[in-house]
Amino acid sequence: MSPSGVFTADRRGRVYLVGAGPGDPELLTVRAHRLVTTAKVVAYDALVSPEILALIPDTAERLAVGRRKGTDPDAPAVHPIVLDKVLRGIDVVRLKGGDPYVFGRGGEEAEQLAELDVAVEIVPGISAAFGAAATMGIPLTHRDVSAGITLATAHTRHDADAGPPIGARVPSEGTVVLYMGRSTLRETAAALIEAGRSPSTPAAVVARATLPSQRSVVADLATIADAAERAELDTPAIVIVGEVVARRVTVRTPAVSVITDVRSL
Ligand code: SAH
Repeated sequence: MSPSGVFTADRRGRVYLVGAGPGDPELLTVRAHRLVTTAKVVAYDALVSPEILALIPDTAERLAVGRRKGTDPDAPAVHPIVLDKVLRGIDVVRLKGGDPYVFGRGGEEAEQLAELDVAVEIVPGISAAFGAAATMGIPLTHRDVSAGITLATAHTRHDADAGPPIGARVPSEGTVVLYMGRSTLRETAAALIEAGRSPSTPAAVVARATLPSQRSVVADLATIADAAERAELDTPAIVIVGEVVARRVTVRTPAVSVITDVRSL
């Protein structure tokens, strides 16, 4: 027993913080696939697709530890059930959507585990930005029109209304990819225009990127929120803003039917 009364095994379990990619199981890394298909315990987020969860062996324990929007932002990053397993010497595959270190609190989980002397391995994954760009045929850094990409969250840590507006947090040129931006799209688009982007800047919203149910709209910054609303795009959705959106080419994407609103472009 540790002083806190928690049972502690001689050897602590390891945590594999694994990026599950944007949804399509074909986009898992070889290492992620190996870890998921040989795991004894898999703890996963709400974002991890059913297609990927189907790879978990029947013999493994599955723990749904995802937090949905609106849950306490100050709750410990590592779920207590995961901690309990690790302290009992059991290895845990912690599956997170996209890349574990791109939003989604992977860094906070790693920090907390490191403080507890728990060995952590990070397995990178394909972040939603790259899954969406690939299926949409959007060349994120086409050198004619973009010198860089900013991956930004439309939300701040504690409160969507707190902190500087998005326009002040992203450069006024180049490609911007907004995570968690669906519900605040109207305000975000207005703020980017306010900060100097032209209302005619091309923009895309891609929902459920890389999954068979992917849907998307393309419009300009001035009308993108209306277009997304009309199309009733659900979540998770990612927003890509910049001239690169107009440089997209039709790509072959098995199993993804892409709905594109080209009225304003
Ligand atoms: N770690 C994840 C991001 C977690 S934050 C990654 O690297 O992709 C959650 C946000 O990611 C969602 O609000 C959405 O903006 C985006 N997202 C995750 N999966 C997505 C998908 N399949 N399609 C579109 N957006 C997605």
